[in-house]
Amino acid sequence: MQIKVLFNKDALNKKFHTGWGLSFLIGEEILFDTGEKGEWLLENIKSLKVDIDKIEVIIISHDHWDHTGGLWTLLEKKRFKVYGLKGFSEKFKMRVRSLNSELLEKEGFSEIKKNIFTTGEVLATYKGMSLSEQALVIKTNKGISVITGCSHPGILKILKLVKSYFKRDNFYFVGGGFHLIDKEQIQLQFLTEEFGKLKVSKVGPTHCSGYEAEELFRKNYKDNFVSLEVGKSLEV
Ligand SMILES: [Zn+2]
Ligand SMILES: [Zn+2]
Repeated sequence: MQIKVLFNKDALNKKFHTGWGLSFLIGEEILFDTGEKGEWLLENIKSLKVDIDKIEVIIISHDHWDHTGGLWTLLEKKRFKVYGLKGFSEKFKMRVRSLNSELLEKEGFSEIKKNIFTTGEVLATYKGMSLSEQALVIKTNKGISVITGCSHPGILKILKLVKSYFKRDNFYFVGGGFHLIDKEQIQLQFLTEEFGKLKVSKVGPTHCSGYEAEELFRKNYKDNFVSLEVGKSLEV
């Protein structure tokens, strides 16, 4: 299964737009998150020769502007199946429905397409409030891959939840936002050791993971560190 980076803070080529937030294309049919701005996402989609007509499903990791920002421009173009969560704001839900797309809210772990899953609602506390987030899980013969938005509930909490569904499989790739910007070096050290215990083969921390976390993973994973610039494709 191919993962293509459509939006992120860095790009392979200057012609691509970069900014805050993430967007990944999984295969040809599934989009995970939409970055901060619709026009930028659409222009990257065009530059990368992605066929928007083939995209059927949009999964939104969590209801934050840097992940939902591009959604509205896409929904104005055509109808999609949008995977949100029960905990998302009423404003988000009404806006999706008002643009005629179907809104799904899976509470638990569920299969979206063959061997592609959402974790369903994983809860975090963000600025003193409850926040719902979901991550994308792909099962292939290489193992289990997990794509995250911001990992506000904690990347380890997400990985342990996924592991409880796929007890016998190893993690092949874990990438996306790990939200480690405010973590101390000792906490980051602990985290990379836990990744080792969970036998994660390749990592791609980006977005809100923070420079220090990215550098530590890069040092530990060497050739198995995957940088996720716009325009990059990765086979999982
Ligand atoms: Zn974010
Ligand atoms: Zn966020």
